[in-house]
Amino acid sequence: MLIVDQVSKNFAAFQALDQVSFEMHSGDIIGLLGKNGAGKTTLMRILTSYISASSGKVIIDGDDMTKHSVNIRRKIGYLPEKPPLYADMTVQYYLKFAAEIKDVPKQKRRSQLAKVIQECDLEQVKHKTIGTLSKGFKQRVGIAQAIIHEPKLLILDEPTSGLDPMQIQQVLALIKNQQDQRTVLLSTHTLTEIEQVAKRVILLKAGQIVFDKPLDELLNVSNSNQVQPLTLEQVFINHHQQPPRESQALESR
Ligand code: ATP
Repeated sequence: MLIVDQVSKNFAAFQALDQVSFEMHSGDIIGLLGKNGAGKTTLMRILTSYISASSGKVIIDGDDMTKHSVNIRRKIGYLPEKPPLYADMTVQYYLKFAAEIKDVPKQKRRSQLAKVIQECDLEQVKHKTIGTLSKGFKQRVGIAQAIIHEPKLLILDEPTSGLDPMQIQQVLALIKNQQDQRTVLLSTHTLTEIEQVAKRVILLKAGQIVFDKPLDELLNVSNSNQVQPLTLEQVFINHHQQPPRESQALESR
């Protein structure tokens, strides 16, 4: 479904991504972890063709990103950190508009609109102006616009950021329900959330992949010397306490 092959990204002299490679298969839900500035948003913006990679290859559903970016955009749903919402529009009007600009065929627009309103539980607010909604509802509208064209790959950048615990659970349930229909890559700082929805975890550190493992394996392998099961939080902290690769290399000389 997705092949990321040695993708690097430079902003002038600064290297935000360094030879990032991984694959995703249909139905995968992968949690992308990393501290602030690790490169998560940069990677997601490359995968959604908002910015181009400095080098490397991205192939989505068999299409090379550099050659078929228009076709690829149709296959991707994207919820950026700040959802692209219009505060003055009603939910229903905005989603109709999103269906139009995402080229949902005219005869399918009505059914798609009804489907995402039901799936994202927006029935009670569909006639309300987006600006008046709670943050949780706004986020669900953001997800609704990201899936209205039935993308095969859904990319969510910190979809639960700033939500209260109840709203977080609703958004996580919504993400989990996507699994049968599409492949999902989501980033978050909150590790317990990843544990609830993702089966595989990729950790980015200073633009490099530090690990890419099934969640179960990660928690079991990392725990080989301990009696209690490790949490993802402990694994995360352990990896960030390790010295950077350059100093490790120097130490081993
Ligand atoms: P956060 O969790 O804070 O969103 P992140 O993991 O998403 O962090 P990125 O936003 O991808 O991190 O940023 C990675 C690095 O690249 C940061 O050091 C950031 O300052 C830098 N960066 C991102 N975009 C640009 C840009 N357009 N120009 C210059 N530097 C950039």
